[in-house]
Amino acid sequence: MPYEKLSDFLRPNFIKALPLLDASRSIYDRLSRYFQHENMRVAMTFQAKYLGMSPWECPATFTILALIEHLWGVWHPIGGLNALSAAMAQVVRDEGGTIHTGTPVRQVLVRGGRAVGLDLGSGGKVEADQVIINADFAYAMTNLVAPEARRRWTDAELGRREYSCSTFMLYLALDKAYPTVPHHNIIVAEDYRANVAEIVGSKTLPASPSIYVQNACVTDPGLAPAGGSTLYVLVPAPNLSGSVDWSREAPAFRDLVLRTIAERTEMKDIEQHIVAERVYTPADWEGRENVYRGAVFNLSHRIRQMLLWRPHNRFEEFANAYIVGGGTHPGSGLPTIYESGRIAANLITAAERGVPFSQVAKHGPGVASYSVE
Ligand SMILES: Cc1cc2nc3c(=O)[nH]c(=O)nc-3n(C[C@H](O)[C@H](O)[C@H](O)COP(=O)(O)OP(=O)(O)OC[C@H]3O[C@@H](n4cnc5c(N)ncnc54)[C@H](O)[C@@H]3O)c2cc1C
Repeated sequence: MPYEKLSDFLRPNFIKALPLLDASRSIYDRLSRYFQHENMRVAMTFQAKYLGMSPWECPATFTILALIEHLWGVWHPIGGLNALSAAMAQVVRDEGGTIHTGTPVRQVLVRGGRAVGLDLGSGGKVEADQVIINADFAYAMTNLVAPEARRRWTDAELGRREYSCSTFMLYLALDKAYPTVPHHNIIVAEDYRANVAEIVGSKTLPASPSIYVQNACVTDPGLAPAGGSTLYVLVPAPNLSGSVDWSREAPAFRDLVLRTIAERTEMKDIEQHIVAERVYTPADWEGRENVYRGAVFNLSHRIRQMLLWRPHNRFEEFANAYIVGGGTHPGSGLPTIYESGRIAANLITAAERGVPFSQVAKHGPGVASYSVE
């Protein structure tokens, strides 16, 4: 549901959920009631990282992340997550739409308090009935929307906001498979509290990193040629509000990450089997992918930056524009991001075109269907 005005908090569903949200406490505080051993507490609270936050700061509302994982498991679309985007693109094409790639937007055109189209630079200008902005929110505001079109989300205001952590990535192609290494592997830093403090507090390079290694080929062998495999290595890292010089630090950090994987998993010979690799640092997320401060999980999920206080899907700065993605309501993470798209679609079809769009028809593990009436 959209949250656009204070009265939206008076909806019966919100009032009913309020006592369960527990937003004034952290995930760690809440789950420490149920788990006494420190290792169990870490195992049940590290999911705060999915929002780029510390378990000691992330609101207990998000204990739902661990619950969902443990109740319903973690799903992998065959072909990788890009298979979802490809399927959605196909729906657009089937419905007669056209998707332009490799055509960067230079500016959202706003006239008389109303979005009227896009300036594509050398690609010309496009007029539009509605403009939906899906680039990273803070990047889009500071780069694609003229300052005079903004009152709430000024550059200064965006600079003051709190952002998630970033990630250091290794995408590896190997000429060896590790069939006994599970799909998901989490290597927790020896001193996890200190590691989290480096990432979200002092914003310094982790001395002993926590690492997620995805060996997806055990589930989806088509991701690599026979006998080989692909590994996706994600290391939570500070965003660019810190002073890490990634152009200098990246090579040594890459070596530390590979050494840690070799020491703490059965992939002892990983380095000898890399045939291709791509490194992404927080600076690459900003420079190559247009993510503000490299904060890939966007505006942080403190309660003061959520719901009414997060950028609204029906954009509040000018008419005729909608915003979607992790930096908008309801928040970061793919299911929530898709929900921002659904809310925006509803606002356009129902409010502007008078076509009602139904709610989720049915819930349950692995079952959710939507229908358009
Ligand atoms: C390494 C990593 C792992 C993650 N893992 C998970 C996970 O397991 N589960 C989960 O739920 N979430 C995960 N997330 C979070 C989630 O994937 C991201 O938050 C999500 O992709 C963000 O979606 P978005 O639509 O907001 O932005 P993006 O996916 O960044 O999409 C924005 C698009 O806008 C385009 N764009 C930018 N500038 C312009 C311009 N000027 N002109 C035209 N186009 C432009 C970009 O090219 C991009 O395609 C992960 C994120 C990262 C970085």
